[in-house]
Amino acid sequence: MMKRATRKFWQIAFAAILLVVPGFGQSKLPNVVVLATGGTIAGAASSDVQAAYTSGQVGVDQLIAAVPQAKKLATLRGEQISNIGSQDMNDEVWLKLARRVNELAAMPDVEGIVITHGTDTIEETAYFLNLVVKTKKPVVMTAAMRPSTALSADGPLNFYNAVAVAANQAAGGRGVLVVINDWVHGAASLTKTSTTAVQTFLSPLRGLIGTVAYGDAEFYRGPVGRNTLDSEFSLDGVSALPRVDIIEAYENMDGKLIDAAAAAGDKGIVIAGVGNGNMTQAALAALAEESKKGIVCVRSSRVVTGRVGRNVEVDDDKLGLIASEDLSPQKARLLLRLALLRQRSLGDIQRIFQEY
Ligand code: ASP
Repeated sequence: MMKRATRKFWQIAFAAILLVVPGFGQSKLPNVVVLATGGTIAGAASSDVQAAYTSGQVGVDQLIAAVPQAKKLATLRGEQISNIGSQDMNDEVWLKLARRVNELAAMPDVEGIVITHGTDTIEETAYFLNLVVKTKKPVVMTAAMRPSTALSADGPLNFYNAVAVAANQAAGGRGVLVVINDWVHGAASLTKTSTTAVQTFLSPLRGLIGTVAYGDAEFYRGPVGRNTLDSEFSLDGVSALPRVDIIEAYENMDGKLIDAAAAAGDKGIVIAGVGNGNMTQAALAALAEESKKGIVCVRSSRVVTGRVGRNVEVDDDKLGLIASEDLSPQKARLLLRLALLRQRSLGDIQRIFQEY
């Protein structure tokens, strides 16, 4: 029989090992919550080789069960926020999703969050969350170009990689991330560039945050632009977002659509301009008129990459316009909607476009 003093010695020695060797004696996996919103990743078709399919057919538990390998990376539980094609994404789902992410992130036993979404508008939802969720914990979105029933479906590996990144503490503090096709994108940078190709997302100006291969993540840098805890935007007390429309510029454009947007009640208008946020003199004149009436008008570009600079070919100072910097029209629109939650000067709104 072991003497009492010897037993005590070994008890203390074992406790010390538990303290100094991280993870020793604990097989506990990080807790990751999966919030499902729909999209092709949850889509289904009646055959594995057909183009036609319906988004948002598979529920969150089925989606998790389809990738049992992910359970070795994290303890997973799912919640269904919505089950829609992301072409139908709307403010109601956005507000519900953002609030739930904030609630979950505040829970001490939640280490990371994965959000499944459609590819059509994932860049908008990611950027919206990047501006309004208040956490340094990993918040990782993922999606798929092929439905769950397709030959070579891309959803399962994207989901696996997203769980791996969400369970990786090194992913924290990098803003909301989008993991798709082995790449880790920042919310401000990514954009969809192909309607059908699996390799559709690029981060043309700001570059990739990292890569992930079969769960093995490598991070190169943090995101450029204020985000999450560093963002001045919050949804506290917000039940609706101001209306802002996007109008694309083209040859022979007149001011009629700009006037119609103002008549529809827009608080802001974003122009997807040609080149460096340019448009016809007629459109510029209509925009300057609306700016005088208090509608905030932002010049962005229909060109996929490049910055829209202030006072380059257009005299923004004289016409009362805002330059979108490197934000695409769809991201400029949602940043403007958040900025317009309170009264601001044009100078303050331009600062926001420079900082985010
Ligand atoms: N229309 C689909 C969606 O955005 C496309 C996709 O998920 O790839 O929900």
